[in-house]
Amino acid sequence: MRIILIGAPGAGKGTQANFLTNKFKIPQVSTGDMLRSAVKDKTDLGIKAKGYMDDGGLVPDNLIIDLVKLRVEMKDCENGFLLDGFPRTIPQAEAMKDAQIFIDFVLEIQVKDEVIINRLTGRRIHSESGRIYHIEHNPPITEGIDDISGDPLIIRDDDKKETILKRLNTYHEHTEPLVNFYSKWSANSDQNSPNFISIDGDDSSEKINEILNKILK
Ligand code: AMP
Repeated sequence: MRIILIGAPGAGKGTQANFLTNKFKIPQVSTGDMLRSAVKDKTDLGIKAKGYMDDGGLVPDNLIIDLVKLRVEMKDCENGFLLDGFPRTIPQAEAMKDAQIFIDFVLEIQVKDEVIINRLTGRRIHSESGRIYHIEHNPPITEGIDDISGDPLIIRDDDKKETILKRLNTYHEHTEPLVNFYSKWSANSDQNSPNFISIDGDDSSEKINEILNKILK
């Protein structure tokens, strides 16, 4: 099972990715996670990528494409994988097609910009454990403090409002065209075309799970 998840930042790709990777026992290949770890380790890639990431833009295609090609050839991807955050541009999608890395399902999670802005600006993180809170939907017991460790919570750099607005712009400009790319290819129904499915991401994550369970039976 090979799956691509498409959706704006904050659309809930992470939650659905967890569900799908457990269901199909496939690894999650998240280019965002790979890049964050490269930045943390100050590798060549990390040093080159950091500025683009902090700014809410995209890391250049040539830095990403080979990284993903190598990753999906690894042994744990033998029975499939879930791509989260890749492809993010038409050239990235074309590069995958050219490399004959074909996909079974492309799932788009659609959420309105206003909902995303509310979700992300309210997000608070405990950086050491990765625990995530939301000031309205899942607040900590004491404002600004992690429930378990008592450490102060932080706002991730890319969850700051101006960065979110830039990331949404980047999404609409560069990534949303993939919806057309994959839905057209899927309608072609050539031998290698993926199934393209669009899901309403305003629904609760349980409802979305239910829908995905039905579709991906
Ligand atoms: P994410 O966690 O998927 O939102 O990714 C965080 C940041 O990493 C993005 O805002 C981009 O700057 C960069 N990034 C992740 N995946 C890609 C990609 N496929 N192409 C270009 N940049 C990416």
